[in-house]
Amino acid sequence: MSTGEDRRVDVAGVSVSMCHYVDGRRVDSPTTFETRSPNDWDVVLGEVARGDDAVADLAMAAATDAFDDWAARGPAGRAEVLYRLADVIDDHVEEISLVETHDMAFNLESMRARLAHRGAENFRNYADLAVDHVEREWDSKGTHNRIIRMPAGPAVVITPWNAPWMLSTWKVAPALAAGNPVVLKPAEWSPLSASLLGDLADEAGVPPGVLNIVQGIGEEVGAALVADPRARRISFTGSPEAGRHIGRAAATNLVPFTAELGGKGPLVVFADADVEAAATKAAWQYDDSGQVCLAGTRLLVEQSVADDFLDRFHQHVDGLVLGPSTDPATDIAPMVHPDHVDTVLGFIDRARDNGDEIVRGGGRADIGDLWIQPTLVRPRDNDSEVVQREVFGPVLTLQTFDTEDEAVALANSTDYGLSAIVYTTSPERAARVGESIRAGTVWVNTFLVRDLTAPFGGCGISGIGREGGRYALEFHADLKTLQVLDGSTS
Ligand code: NAD
Repeated sequence: MSTGEDRRVDVAGVSVSMCHYVDGRRVDSPTTFETRSPNDWDVVLGEVARGDDAVADLAMAAATDAFDDWAARGPAGRAEVLYRLADVIDDHVEEISLVETHDMAFNLESMRARLAHRGAENFRNYADLAVDHVEREWDSKGTHNRIIRMPAGPAVVITPWNAPWMLSTWKVAPALAAGNPVVLKPAEWSPLSASLLGDLADEAGVPPGVLNIVQGIGEEVGAALVADPRARRISFTGSPEAGRHIGRAAATNLVPFTAELGGKGPLVVFADADVEAAATKAAWQYDDSGQVCLAGTRLLVEQSVADDFLDRFHQHVDGLVLGPSTDPATDIAPMVHPDHVDTVLGFIDRARDNGDEIVRGGGRADIGDLWIQPTLVRPRDNDSEVVQREVFGPVLTLQTFDTEDEAVALANSTDYGLSAIVYTTSPERAARVGESIRAGTVWVNTFLVRDLTAPFGGCGISGIGREGGRYALEFHADLKTLQVLDGSTS
């Protein structure tokens, strides 16, 4: 490990550090891992520092040392810093967008138009919420009671490779606003936009140790961070499998953790729906090559409109353009990594072996090894693996139903419960079905519209706890009741 030295590479004209960011300085590791561009897998973007126990220890020590001062600033003092960081992010939207699109193949135009700014919004929103928050005060049983939110201590934040910029900022912002210094570990398949966040934090004057970024492999440095007893909160987004490991580490140290995990969302289309709107949105579920936890991957369509829906769906999917994420014409960019392509193709092969019908797609697209054709599977029955397990690729299933009860039963028939999409024009049905589906978010006649103050998370194996708005701020705080006997102080 070498402290204070930086190694940088040029990614599409943007200088990006390949090192960790600890205590306001760059720190290198003796070993590295490669990050490549999914748009052209022959291109090695950089050799990123591969964190180990020593770096985890250094980062946790920095966050622990920074805690008292950061907590003592109070919500308004911290908000000043976070507003500056938000402004700096807004000034660097182009660089963030370019790095993300090359590192992870996130659509460049979406980054420029929405998601790079969303990072700034995350910091502003949580700063606002923390400042505006007023805790309850009340008199009872001859005492005056006041609730106080205490910052909990250093938070370890672990993020997945899909939407890395959006998710890192979404999870770091509430921790910092609540007064907890952060050690962020981004995913090893898309580490670079998080590295940029270190530069932007520097530019915004975030005090040393308040935001630390450690690069590396989940089972190595990630495991070391979550096992460190100095971590007082763990905020994780990723797969249920890794979530279980992290939950075990959290249990050992008795540390609260939130886990935002996989999804297998239904997209339910009732006969009374605007079928064209539903079919358009169903085709959208192939966006980002289906590498979206919230995607409605199980199309559940009322039998009487199934043919009409399917005709329209095919028309929309026929019009989707596969290409590099940097091309504005592209609808479906490459998958993140060849290993993930193999995982997704494995699901398709097993579906075929199971007797599921491959209605369209079903293999690699001819434009390159990292693209999979938008695939639609009609499963043999509801127990098919492709219905029951998250594929996290451009693979949707199609099932039909005859009654509302059947639709709800199918919607609730997996172990997941992250999100659902419902198409209906009936307000009564929207309310009934919306209430009956077990999921953290149910959208009716829309998709992916997010109010950052709403709770966010999953039921079942889709997650534990809620992030978003005040829910995330509460997670990052220890609540105290201060109770003073009436008349005992003057
Ligand atoms: P993953 O679980 O493999 O990895 C996620 C992160 O955890 C990575 O940074 C990884 O390095 C780290 N990690 C892995 N094992 C670890 C361990 N033992 N200890 C500590 N850290 C460890 O997930 P992924 O493949 O990167 O992401 C895809 C998954 O994330 C999908 O299941 C997707 O649905 C889910 N996801 C969920 C949401 C949500 O909001 N619910 C959002 C995005 C992605």
